[in-house]
Amino acid sequence: MKVVYTDNNATTQVAPEVLEVMLPYFHDLYGNPSSMHSFGGKVAQKLQEAREKVALLIGASPDEILFTSCGTESDNTAIRSAIASCPDKKHIITTRVEHPAVKNLYEYLGKNGYRVTFLPVDRQGRLNMEDLEESLSDNTAIVSIMWANNETGVIFPIEEIARMLNERGILFHTDAVQAVGKIPVDVQQVPVNMLALSGHKLHASKGVGALYIRKGTPFSPFLIGGHQERGRRGGTENIASIIGFGKACELAAKNIKQEQVQVKDLRDKLENEILRQVPNAMINGDRKHRLPNTTNISFEYVEGEAILLMMNEFGICASSGSACTSGSLEPSHVLRAMDVPFTAAHGSIRFSLSIYNTEEEIDFIIEKLSPIIKRLRELSQFWTESKTAQRPC
Ligand code: PLP
Repeated sequence: MKVVYTDNNATTQVAPEVLEVMLPYFHDLYGNPSSMHSFGGKVAQKLQEAREKVALLIGASPDEILFTSCGTESDNTAIRSAIASCPDKKHIITTRVEHPAVKNLYEYLGKNGYRVTFLPVDRQGRLNMEDLEESLSDNTAIVSIMWANNETGVIFPIEEIARMLNERGILFHTDAVQAVGKIPVDVQQVPVNMLALSGHKLHASKGVGALYIRKGTPFSPFLIGGHQERGRRGGTENIASIIGFGKACELAAKNIKQEQVQVKDLRDKLENEILRQVPNAMINGDRKHRLPNTTNISFEYVEGEAILLMMNEFGICASSGSACTSGSLEPSHVLRAMDVPFTAAHGSIRFSLSIYNTEEEIDFIIEKLSPIIKRLRELSQFWTESKTAQRPC
């Protein structure tokens, strides 16, 4: 059975060009970049070239890029570094819709001596800038706000936030794991202090990420060990993955137009056809400010997990809630923060596309989905009750 993969916010296919550049580092070029001999030196040179490519994609300079093992490590490093750099400040700010890589660390810090402000979002998943402004204090050590939400694709006004925090001298970290490669991200335009990226969200392999650290931002390492990454992260580098990450960033710069036009057109077609064919379906999240590849659709009175299982029978891969919460039947924290009604939050599905999706695949999903929802609703007591309730007596 052919797999129709529309779960690219969970992870992406490694691009063939990326795999190709990775392979030599498993057999021919296996030297340690920290070694004194030229065999290792060659690898160090390639490591530097990969750093330059990652930097170029986001307008950074190479020495502002720290390689990590994943987006989660990048986020954790940024937040822990900020609080270590400002030990007297005990207030930290984030939103209610962050990925667990940020949210769970903030919750942990909330139980360990920090006052945490979790900023609310509105029904469209948008932040109110006044809420942010009012929450700032002289005691604020760091603000973490994601560039784009992984579940809904909603994009936050990061430039405006960064400028406001910059003027107040408050450290700002953004989780740009879902944004980089899908929309332009330029740290020359947007004065963030730290920005997290992850390789496997943009067609590189798993096990590699990066943290952008603006020059002049105080920094304290998370992994203490050897002198790798100029003493900012101990541990021998995951060279093959880093080389692949560099290539993926080079490709992403070339493909960003395709993401914004072709991928967006496919997403819009999928979304519009579903809304046209399926009653009681709604889009979650601000449709004007969204990643071009993501749609989060609620089908009232059915369980997202049941939809996923039935789509799986046809080889269609999507997500309910986020990849990290889909193991539980609780509606996702993001949809709850947006006040999506219970009957809709339970039946939410995220489709996230990539440049490898085709129009035939979108047509296939459209063809299969409507009968799936119809069938599930026939079995749903809540759907039957909702219809009965609407009938005039
Ligand atoms: N931040 C966001 C917004 C994400 O979507 C993810 C992964 O889904 C992460 C962080 C974590 O990235 P990684 O899987 O590389 O640790």
